Amino acid sequence: MHFKLSGLWRYSSGCLQAGQTKISSRSLAIMISALYDNDDWRRPVTIESQPNPMAATILDGIKIGSDIRSEVAAEVKTMSVAGVRPGLAVVLAGHNPASEIYVRGKVKACEEVGIYSEKLTPAESVTTAELLALVEELNRRDEIDGILVQLPLPPQVDAKKILMAVDPAKDVDGFHPVNVGFLSTQRPGLVPCTPAGILEILKRSKIAIAGQEAVVVGRSDIVGKPTAMLLINGNATVTVCHSKTRNLPAVCHRADILVAAIGRAAMITRDFVKPGATVIDVGMNKVTDPAEFKRLFAGNARREAAFRKRGSSLVGDVHPEVAEIAGAITPVPGGVGPLTIAMLMFNTVKAAKMRRGSHVPEFSRA
Ligand code: NAP
Repeated sequence: MHFKLSGLWRYSSGCLQAGQTKISSRSLAIMISALYDNDDWRRPVTIESQPNPMAATILDGIKIGSDIRSEVAAEVKTMSVAGVRPGLAVVLAGHNPASEIYVRGKVKACEEVGIYSEKLTPAESVTTAELLALVEELNRRDEIDGILVQLPLPPQVDAKKILMAVDPAKDVDGFHPVNVGFLSTQRPGLVPCTPAGILEILKRSKIAIAGQEAVVVGRSDIVGKPTAMLLINGNATVTVCHSKTRNLPAVCHRADILVAAIGRAAMITRDFVKPGATVIDVGMNKVTDPAEFKRLFAGNARREAAFRKRGSSLVGDVHPEVAEIAGAITPVPGGVGPLTIAMLMFNTVKAAKMRRGSHVPEFSRA
């Protein structure tokens, strides 16, 4: 019998994945014990046989995001029978090319799931007072259930003041301190979209959270902190790291679930990762330097062709070599990204229901 076990490890969700084949960790350890005279099945298994370039299960964010959108579309249909159509207002101030692309994607997603959407485009020169007046008008309008103010705002605008002005019941980004408080005290509220999406990936991929060691690298209000809070609420033991963390590789190496939300291309290399760990790569970094691209993706024909065509590549915070030792990993692109818009759609429907007092299943809470 020939085993291909390079880089595999018993991990705490209770199962190992060799390619696409799931084997319970206990069964595998017992088989290995029999072969290698090692009767301690709790200990890590590190047997090199042949190179396994893609040991990790790829966590398909496109598929999970599409499932969530279909569920949301079905919900919108049901609500429309009762005469309710959820509505989202997106405020895009000024001209930021990246923001324009994001907003286009959000409006398109609304159309696809049947949510009413409205795009408001104040000029680049808009003042804080003018934006506040716009947000207050949207707060008052009953047909608007969700308000999303696309960041970054023009430099003269006090972004914190604007975000604070959004009615917490319509705060589909989940950034308002009231919603931050609801999340940290485990009360129903609106949860930030990317962290909520990360939890959906874990849950729908049947990756255990309770009792696991989770390490989140990054402490932003948008990603790192809410992700850590969701993992705590899911009963993981959570460590949050940042730029001042000492001995980051060693801290990350403890993780059963490692979340990288840093904004530095390919920073998390294999020495940060415990073999068999689940790695969630939130990073979205544009690499344009051909030498850096080659260092990361030499030999990847599909990526190389795309890089030649576009002159850039979207790269996560996790080095591609990590896929050789992780148990499961989100790709970039196609991992966390598609969940962010899917969860925005979910939050808009959730806001519409909560504002009308109907029960909302808390599927974003682990
Ligand atoms: P951010 O606000 O810039 O926060 C980055 C965090 O990483 C900070 O907490 C920072 O620590 C930490 N950090 C930076 N360098 C580090 C280092 N060398 N060692 C350890 N920690 C370090 O970024 P963000 O908004 O959270 O976004 C993070 C990444 O996720 C970005 O690539 C962003 O584009 C991406 N993102 C993706 C999605 C999606 O839909 N997929 C959504 C949002 C964001 P300090 O606090 O000490 O500065």
